[in-house]
Amino acid sequence: MNFKIEKKLKNELGRAGVLATLHGVVKTPAFVTVGTKASVKALTPEQIKNLGAQIILANAYHLYLQPGDKLVKKAGGLRKFMNWSGPTMTDSGGFQVFSLGAAFGDSVTKIAQKTTLRGPTSKSFRDNSGRLMKIDEDGVNFCSHLDGSKHRFTPEKSIEIQHNLGADIIFAFDECTSPNADYEYQKEALERTHRWARRCLAHHHHLEAKLPSGEKQALFGIVQGGRFEDLRKKSARIISKMDFDGFGIGGSFDKKDMYSTVGWVNQILPEEKPRHLLGIGEPEDLFGGIQNGVDLFDCVVPTRIARNGTLYTRSGRINILNSKFKTDFSPLDENCGCYACQNYSRAYLSHLFRAKEMLAGTLASIHNLYFIVNLVAEIRQSILAGKFFQFKKEFLDRYKQ
Ligand SMILES: [Zn+2]
Repeated sequence: MNFKIEKKLKNELGRAGVLATLHGVVKTPAFVTVGTKASVKALTPEQIKNLGAQIILANAYHLYLQPGDKLVKKAGGLRKFMNWSGPTMTDSGGFQVFSLGAAFGDSVTKIAQKTTLRGPTSKSFRDNSGRLMKIDEDGVNFCSHLDGSKHRFTPEKSIEIQHNLGADIIFAFDECTSPNADYEYQKEALERTHRWARRCLAHHHHLEAKLPSGEKQALFGIVQGGRFEDLRKKSARIISKMDFDGFGIGGSFDKKDMYSTVGWVNQILPEEKPRHLLGIGEPEDLFGGIQNGVDLFDCVVPTRIARNGTLYTRSGRINILNSKFKTDFSPLDENCGCYACQNYSRAYLSHLFRAKEMLAGTLASIHNLYFIVNLVAEIRQSILAGKFFQFKKEFLDRYKQ
């Protein structure tokens, strides 16, 4: 993997770059499309490619439970299994192990203000279903959200799963704490995450030594530390000294202090390596993240809300189930170049949702993903053209209406 910065924002951390992976190039900043279970819900890989998506992120926890990482390996790895020809990523399963069962379901968000992520506040805690989860120095015991069966993840296990899945970019296994965790617990969890990061690197190098050079994966370390400035900075300093290929910024955030948190971290992380803000990426989040040095975003929200009929437009979100759209024969968003907006009206989408037709979720997902993927691409262009702040103001003034 190779990362090259093309242009930087003056007096800011933001930049535009090119990330070259073994299976294709990602122009950054970029939105990473989420295909948790080796599928972007309701879309075929052709549709995903046609809307401009460059890279897909799947999840180690989900694929380990179903159909099993060894089966994916047997199928030729994630790309071959899901028929996606471009670059791929997997996340370590850390967030899911600590929040799932607990945070599983449609209300999951990493923004603490909206819903609280029910991660641990101490070493043993109950998830949403009242099941006890236990963290020890070596790893974490948890129950499958599918059938309640017992499992154990260690840093080594997560890396082994991600090697079996075979994505271009993989992540270190970290502890994702609750935003309600106090300073003392955050500090303890952070130190454990740093020890786990070293173990992830060691096991990655051990497994990698057996691979041909054409199959080498890039490993990103994860910075944690919650909302505490000194912990975030400490984490960034410690993780940046380790031999990672790039970095993820994990954990949960209050929306109001998300950008300062990201800024603290990115001032410390080495400039020449890519940075991924994990699980964040709605339109209003992108500008602040990019300005503060984020290169990659992933977020399930655009496709999740699409399946419920909520669509992005340049003037803000609309809900297509609103009765005024029943007889509105204009496109979903007249400024949008996506397949859905080029060919279908608001009235037709409204009908599909009311009739509970599967095509509703497909067309809405195409639109929302196109909107986000191309908004990030436009932000990239604005950086290259020296017009970032102008574009940010124009977009946000209109989007907030
Ligand atoms: Zn559209």
